[in-house]
Amino acid sequence: MASTVAIQINNLSKSFKGKIALKSVNFTIRKGEMVALIGASGSGKSTLLRHINGLHLGDAGTVYIFGTVLQSKGKLHSKIRLLQSQIGCIFQQFNLVNRLTVIENVLVGNLARLSILRSILHLFTKEEKIQALAALERVGILEHTYKRASMLSGGQQQRVAIARCLVQGAKIFLADEPIASLDPESARKVMELIVQLNRQSGITVVASLHQIQMVRSYFDRAIALRDGAVMFDGATIELDDNKLNEIYGAAAEELVMRGHGELLV
Ligand code: ADP
Ligand code: MG
Repeated sequence: MASTVAIQINNLSKSFKGKIALKSVNFTIRKGEMVALIGASGSGKSTLLRHINGLHLGDAGTVYIFGTVLQSKGKLHSKIRLLQSQIGCIFQQFNLVNRLTVIENVLVGNLARLSILRSILHLFTKEEKIQALAALERVGILEHTYKRASMLSGGQQQRVAIARCLVQGAKIFLADEPIASLDPESARKVMELIVQLNRQSGITVVASLHQIQMVRSYFDRAIALRDGAVMFDGATIELDDNKLNEIYGAAAEELVMRGHGELLV
């Protein structure tokens, strides 16, 4: 496989108790690409992202990360942790430990590589702390380093989650509706940060979003799922109302016709 590939998915299928969630999904994402994952609620976006980081096992098919098999035919790579450390996950809910400080939250991103004792005692090396501070500066919240995570706004918390991915050394960011819980201004700032990291550090980004305007503003490429199958993979400028109707189905037709395509979920 060419060394320019970050994520490759071949014929990935998954059913939950007989109900199909992913239907022979195929695509390739090159290193440094930024791809929006779109589709109606229940179309399989979260399920697909969870297969890419090995949290779900497919019934059939293969997921490659940087040319290495992460999972194939329902089996995980034996060194899954090593592969997972290259993948940073950002969720809709910020997934921080509220009672810990911002910097502690960033440091526990390293847990996979720390001994259990050190992680329980929260003992981190000076080098790790410097790395965490650099990441917090990069995401623009250095001044909040020693506040409890719960004191931060949603947008700030999402930036802590991003700093944690940076400290982890992730080369791929998987973001599942990263801005869905944010006000429009915070959402824009978080998207701009993600774009900046993509452009400056070549981090490959796959993000599920339901605001079509955001998809058009920040992404060149979109992959759309409908009922677990890829039904569009192309340039976001091709996402006209007809395409959106096909992607989101009958429920969306009215919204699009009324000019409210941006409200689609
Ligand atoms: P989306 O993120 O696009 O809203 P999901 O990936 O959450 O869609 O869900 C896709 C389909 O898979 C849905 O029908 C959902 O009910 C089902 N599903 C997802 N996760 C599970 C699970 N852990 N157990 C059973 N069904 C699931
Ligand atoms: Mg989802």
